[in-house]
Amino acid sequence: MIMSDDEKKVECDTHGKSDATFVCQHLSCGEKLGFNIGYDDENPYELYPDAWCDKCNDVLNAEGEWNDESEKFAGIKLLCACCYENVREKNWLQDDEVFHDLICSSFRYLEEKQKTFMEEYKADEHERWDWYQETGKLVFTHDGQPQVEADIHFSGTFSKKSNTWMWAWANENLDEKVKASSRNVKTIGEERGLKQLVAGHWDATEVDGWEMTSVLAKNLNAIGAYRTPSDNGFTYMVVTKAKWINKGILSKIFGA
Ligand SMILES: [Zn+2]
Ligand SMILES: [Zn+2]
Repeated sequence: MIMSDDEKKVECDTHGKSDATFVCQHLSCGEKLGFNIGYDDENPYELYPDAWCDKCNDVLNAEGEWNDESEKFAGIKLLCACCYENVREKNWLQDDEVFHDLICSSFRYLEEKQKTFMEEYKADEHERWDWYQETGKLVFTHDGQPQVEADIHFSGTFSKKSNTWMWAWANENLDEKVKASSRNVKTIGEERGLKQLVAGHWDATEVDGWEMTSVLAKNLNAIGAYRTPSDNGFTYMVVTKAKWINKGILSKIFGA
């Protein structure tokens, strides 16, 4: 493991060049040790906050701060971002029932709303969609005319290339307007100790994408959800409001 010139990058023997991360020596080679994270005050939404095991956390609490004693015990190690994610997967402890219940109730909520949303706005039947990050709007167009305008909040993106999910709040390419609400879900995750909600980026499937989106949907009392294809995956979003903006010619198009 070599730190490269660029201080924040690291060259891993297994994964190549990626972001440098720091975890305690126990986490770096252990399993089921607990995964405690500490955010940099200036960067509370960093993807790879420093992490340490439960034992280190006990020492930290006894010492009251990171000092010679607690740092010596932790013996912080440098890892690449991929190794960090593996270590997090192996060591994070959570109540799976709490996670299961949250996903089930969220999914039920969304499923019920989704049916009405699709019917009422014919979300699947328009010729094209466009979303605008600056305004947080999704617009469905038909016959060259905008038909439906919706208020959207991004939950995150799924990459088919890496089979990973990234929460919108962790995505530097997204505008504050569309990603701010996704932080609510992170807060829920922190309160309940749920890895999938707290971790910004993790190995996932498309279904995970819908599940995570449903948590945001329920949190925002959304009326539906939508996803749009991208070059290497999908962007998932929830819809909090929608309206027909060209109802006059509706009947011509859909026979409604
Ligand atoms: Zn430790
Ligand atoms: Zn690595």
